[in-house]
Amino acid sequence: MADPDILTTLKILIIGESGVGKSSLLLRFTDDTFDPEQAATIGVDFKVKTLTVDGNKAKLAIWDTAGQERFRTLTPSYYRGAQGVILVYDVCSKSSFNKLDAWLNELETFSTKHDLIKMLVGNKIDQAKREVTKEDGLKFARKHQMLFIEASAKTKEGVQCAFEELVEKIIQTPGLWET
Ligand code: GDP
Ligand code: MG
Repeated sequence: MADPDILTTLKILIIGESGVGKSSLLLRFTDDTFDPEQAATIGVDFKVKTLTVDGNKAKLAIWDTAGQERFRTLTPSYYRGAQGVILVYDVCSKSSFNKLDAWLNELETFSTKHDLIKMLVGNKIDQAKREVTKEDGLKFARKHQMLFIEASAKTKEGVQCAFEELVEKIIQTPGLWET
């Protein structure tokens, strides 16, 4: 049944190194599940979820890399038309943090909307062996004009907020939120 309140579909991407928890964050957000046995290779291509932010209803089409990021074979069509991106690193993996610049370069090369909103997510904060401080995450986000949040797909912390704040910013940005 058509819902007349649904105005806009937003394309949201989740990118970042393999194993940082992209698919887990997506499944936590859309299905409220977490499977610790999930192999890093198993991915989701695409999930749809409706979200209401500040009275605006948005239909989110959230694209996952589905393991392709390991082979550096994400195609331009993956990036095309996206209004928002969630760039994920693992706070327990300095190397995943060090790859953020490369991901931003890729995004810059392929995204068609250069004013798209970027959210940096430091995932796996439930784990003790942290290698990246919150301050380092915040510093990187500020430098690149990104929103920032630390999260855990395992405990749920920060997950809903990450998506909501991203969508809120998209809604506030003329040209991205078109009906
Ligand atoms: P992707 O390759 O970026 O999609 O990463 P996955 O979502 O497949 O997650 C990789 C591994 O990290 C899996 O074993 C997950 O169970 C685990 N994982 C993901 N998010 C978290 C988290 O927030 N905390 C913990 N402790 N493990 C996580
Ligand atoms: Mg995955």
